[in-house]
Amino acid sequence: MNIKKGDRVVVISGDDRGSEGEVQRVVRAKWGKGRRAGERRVEADRVVVAGVNLIKKHQRRTGDVNTQFGIIEREAPIHVSNVMLLCPKCGKPTRVGHQVFADGTRARQCKQCGETIDA
Ligand SMILES: [Zn+2]
Repeated sequence: MNIKKGDRVVVISGDDRGSEGEVQRVVRAKWGKGRRAGERRVEADRVVVAGVNLIKKHQRRTGDVNTQFGIIEREAPIHVSNVMLLCPKCGKPTRVGHQVFADGTRARQCKQCGETIDA
């Protein structure tokens, strides 16, 4: 998994091809026992991207006045293989490399410009 929460990504396949957004949530392969509403095992290695892959969800009215109900639009997770990281340095969609420094720390690296993406 080369994508983290908060990354900007571009969608490279499907109906939302070309759209960009910030990663709001990452669903990892080994996700433990806890499940949230609407999440299944098949949704592993997926990311939720702001404004991308919107679905209409039929939300029941709950007792909570702060909860929206009726038909609401929200993002559904998409597979990480369908997005590419947008490099914060050069702005291009890129594959992600890994740097290992002399002191053993690791960082992601843009394959386009070679810049370190995060520490
Ligand atoms: Zn770059």
